[in-house]
Amino acid sequence: MNGVFVVGAGPAGMFAARQLALAGFEVFLLNRDIKPGGLAEYGIYPMKDKMKSGLRKQFAKVLELPNVHYFGHVQVGDAYNLSLAELEAMRPAAILYTCGAQGTKKLGLPGEDLKGVYAAKDFVYHYNQLPPFASMDFSTGKRIAVIGMGNVAIDIARWLLLDAPGRRTEEVVIVARRGPAEIKFDRKEIEYVDRHIVREQLVAELERVRERCARVGQDASPETVFEQHFRRLKDAAFASVPPRLSFRFLSSPAAVLRGDGDRIRGLEIAENELVLRPDGSTAAKDTGERTTLAIDTLIFAIGDKHDARIGLPMGKDGYATRPVPEATKEVSYEVWDPSAGHAVEGRFVAGWARLASTGLVGIARHDGEVGASKAIEFLKGLPDRGTMSANEIQARLEARGLRVVTKPDLALLARAERRALESGPASPSGFAENEAMFQAIDRERELLQTSASEGSQLVPTT
Ligand SMILES: Cc1cc2nc3c(=O)[nH]c(=O)nc-3n(C[C@H](O)[C@H](O)[C@H](O)COP(=O)(O)OP(=O)(O)OC[C@H]3O[C@@H](n4cnc5c(N)ncnc54)[C@H](O)[C@@H]3O)c2cc1C
Repeated sequence: MNGVFVVGAGPAGMFAARQLALAGFEVFLLNRDIKPGGLAEYGIYPMKDKMKSGLRKQFAKVLELPNVHYFGHVQVGDAYNLSLAELEAMRPAAILYTCGAQGTKKLGLPGEDLKGVYAAKDFVYHYNQLPPFASMDFSTGKRIAVIGMGNVAIDIARWLLLDAPGRRTEEVVIVARRGPAEIKFDRKEIEYVDRHIVREQLVAELERVRERCARVGQDASPETVFEQHFRRLKDAAFASVPPRLSFRFLSSPAAVLRGDGDRIRGLEIAENELVLRPDGSTAAKDTGERTTLAIDTLIFAIGDKHDARIGLPMGKDGYATRPVPEATKEVSYEVWDPSAGHAVEGRFVAGWARLASTGLVGIARHDGEVGASKAIEFLKGLPDRGTMSANEIQARLEARGLRVVTKPDLALLARAERRALESGPASPSGFAENEAMFQAIDRERELLQTSASEGSQLVPTT
């Protein structure tokens, strides 16, 4: 048999699996998390329930395909549960890596490892209840700086300002190295939180950087910036509500300042000016001037990078892929071995594993599907590689001491989650720890066995 392994069950992996299964291949999904979905489950804002449940339904349909096999709670990688050599020993005809961008970017700043300093992905995993982040300490104080001005930074601000139970947020400051012309967040995202902006404060900040922006031809006047990004603030009757959302432009983090114990007490920031690059884009240049922001929490929302600990060959911008001539618009999905100077036969990357932190779910889906079509092309006419069966793979994984989560287990977990939601007031939709999920799966199985032995017709459903 020629079976295909898909490593990572986020949107890219799930839609790739669907395409491969519909083309007639046996597909084996290996996923780090117990539940499928990746950032669609554990990244997308918790209150976007309609979008999240729509995606969950689509993923459930993929898992209903009889030739898609699911192995959750299996972290592939040389530094993890299952090394690449062990994976290869199961004789996959092709492997598509769709494991996302799990590495964390560090700026190398003094004090970066102090308590109260977080990477956005970890923080978002925490409030979206992904184990083990769900039960880790992500405490925040009253003044929180979020570095970056994309949609992820605004999601985090939204959670802290509106939806974080028991937090003491008084102000969230969005810190950006360049000016308002480089805002990356969408208008519909900022509209969730724009009521928290104090108009006079934003006007003062824009006036502070206006001259520096004008030197590179950027219009940072309040009229222009409000029109482009903050329409509600144009209304004369606009009234701000606490807690505050403020902005600090042309500012790069320079050092994290230590307070009591190991906790952050402030952020030293470098004041920037803007310089034009030959291609017309702008770069931030340190003026040498320093300011201190009194904050007690710092969250870096500057994108993620590829996880080098998996053991795939690395290139300049993540996992190495076959080089393509720069002048062409061609995109390569083939894993490339730079030391040998050739592609690794039948091994592909797609989604955020190909291009870290790039695009919404629709883009990741498309990329997964294109990656799958590259694998299908490769598999055409390939001699039988004798890929292990689903039972053999499961037995091999269990022999490694792994507690593997299968499709029937997911159905049991879904039942347990429904039960928890029905019984607990405001009980979270998920379980905060893997162990709790395993216990819930076992409990549901026992309940079903008991009902079956008592003659009930109950069967697990997804
Ligand atoms: C905070 C945040 C909010 C977002 N909000 C939106 C939104 O509102 N709307 C929208 O359309 N898009 C949103 N996105 C973008 C969207 O989540 C991504 O486009 C999409 O999830 C990327 O899909 P992916 O499959 O490539 O990677 P991921 O979703 O990251 O999936 C990767 C999968 O690989 C698994 N994995 C990782 N390492 C391993 C390993 N070593 N072995 C096995 N499995 C592994 C993970 O468990 C995960 O299941 C958001 C992203 C973030 C970060």
